[in-house]
Amino acid sequence: MTALTIGDVTVTRVVELDRSSFEIGAMLPESTPERIAAQRDWMGPELLDPVTGVHKACIQSYVLRTPWHTVVIDTCVGNDKPRNGVPAWYMRRGTYLSDLAAAGVKPEDVDMVICTHLHVDHVGWNTRLEGGRWVPTFPRARYVIVREEFEFWKREGETGREEFGLIDDSVMPVVEAGMADLVASDHVIDDRLRLEPAPGHTPAHVCVRLTTPAGQAIFTGDMMHRPIQVAEPEWNSRFCDDAELARKTRRGFLERHADADVIVLAAHFPVAGRIVAPGGRTRFQPLAA
Ligand SMILES: [Zn+2]
Repeated sequence: MTALTIGDVTVTRVVELDRSSFEIGAMLPESTPERIAAQRDWMGPELLDPVTGVHKACIQSYVLRTPWHTVVIDTCVGNDKPRNGVPAWYMRRGTYLSDLAAAGVKPEDVDMVICTHLHVDHVGWNTRLEGGRWVPTFPRARYVIVREEFEFWKREGETGREEFGLIDDSVMPVVEAGMADLVASDHVIDDRLRLEPAPGHTPAHVCVRLTTPAGQAIFTGDMMHRPIQVAEPEWNSRFCDDAELARKTRRGFLERHADADVIVLAAHFPVAGRIVAPGGRTRFQPLAA
């Protein structure tokens, strides 16, 4: 688990699951095997397993140590939660907290959690089970959640359209503990971190931009699920809420960041990288190891 240093900030990946439950064609229903194969030429072993041909993916948190905060961006699936329908998620007993400790971070060290959106694989470790109750995992943290996103999913929970029960077990406990900051989707956290609207995947999905004296990075949540979407931005994931808006957000992001010196860290990409466009052909270039 190597840390990435960007100016005075370190970024560490804490991987909860190192593979996806969805193969690439199932994750990107608008793709075709031919067009997926046509992008293989730029996909090295960091992105594509050379033996099995599997497009690599994971579920992970990004842990940031800035001069001002220790931040966790997105909190994966979590333990002990009844996530029906996905065996790798159901009543998990994973090693997330010890993996976090191995990265040098104890729960009480974290003073900020940011959720890019409120899907099941981004909020799980907001809470943990203690004495039969869901309690905030990070006892000293402010949990930064976009108010519009919260209100949307609260309604979905109340009307039974949110199938996992994640609002009750992973969001309301931090709200009821007074630990949530419900903010606008362009909220400025401090001189290092700010939110940027990136709607479509969910109604008020956001990216998190990191600005340091020595460079920028952006945490793009689920705006893109697989690196191949950098080359095929019209392909949505199976979980995108508003198909047209998700495409528009993705296209605009890629246009603004092509050949920009900004490190891109997506929630499910196996590596960090940059958006490059040699010869006008946009693709994802992993950072040199
Ligand atoms: Zn996700």
